[in-house]
Amino acid sequence: MKIKEMFLNKLDININTTLPVVEHFYTLQGEGFHQGKAAYFIRLGGCDVGCVWCDVKDSWDAGKHPLLKIEDLILIVKETPAKIVVITGGEPLLHNLDSLTIELQKAGLKTHIETSGSSPLSGRWDWITLSPKKFKAPLAQNLQYASELKVVVFNKSDFEWAEKYAALVSTNCRLYLQPEWDKASIITPMIIDYVKANTKWQLSLQIHKYINVP
Ligand code: SF4
Repeated sequence: MKIKEMFLNKLDININTTLPVVEHFYTLQGEGFHQGKAAYFIRLGGCDVGCVWCDVKDSWDAGKHPLLKIEDLILIVKETPAKIVVITGGEPLLHNLDSLTIELQKAGLKTHIETSGSSPLSGRWDWITLSPKKFKAPLAQNLQYASELKVVVFNKSDFEWAEKYAALVSTNCRLYLQPEWDKASIITPMIIDYVKANTKWQLSLQIHKYINVP
């Protein structure tokens, strides 16, 4: 999905823009619709959501991480055969991502984002994964742009919570339920039963953790 032109009218594109980068690596996308596809991941620093079960807490403080120029990031990605670049975090929408995504697309790369949706949307995206968090709710205006809704299930009450957001995304948005990793042995059977009874949903597993890639 491309973000509407309204987001592109006032762009100030600058290839010298810098962003705090926690890590970047070429791997397989482990989750959701694009699971199993090769993708270059760029994890940006900074998060104000504060999930108790967060597995990348080191990313929360943007100031701890080096600032890299967009121009240099693109050169790094172009050293690999990657066709997809996934911008993740942290909460990547704490940064304005117009310059990064437009330059990535100019370089022939597909731009994907993984976001809680809790900050204003910026950037030009080929795929938006919106993963709502209870700790800071997504902004209502972001939900319509989700290509997939990915709800991390931590306990039984999360199914009802997931349905609340499924009712707010567009009709062609894909719906995924993903067990929280540390509780996967308990939660995965619950998701299997739920998906069998509620067929609009699909199970998403973090396969990168099963196959031991980043
Ligand atoms: S939004 Fe992501 S990075 Fe931020 S606390 Fe939650 S899981 Fe961690």
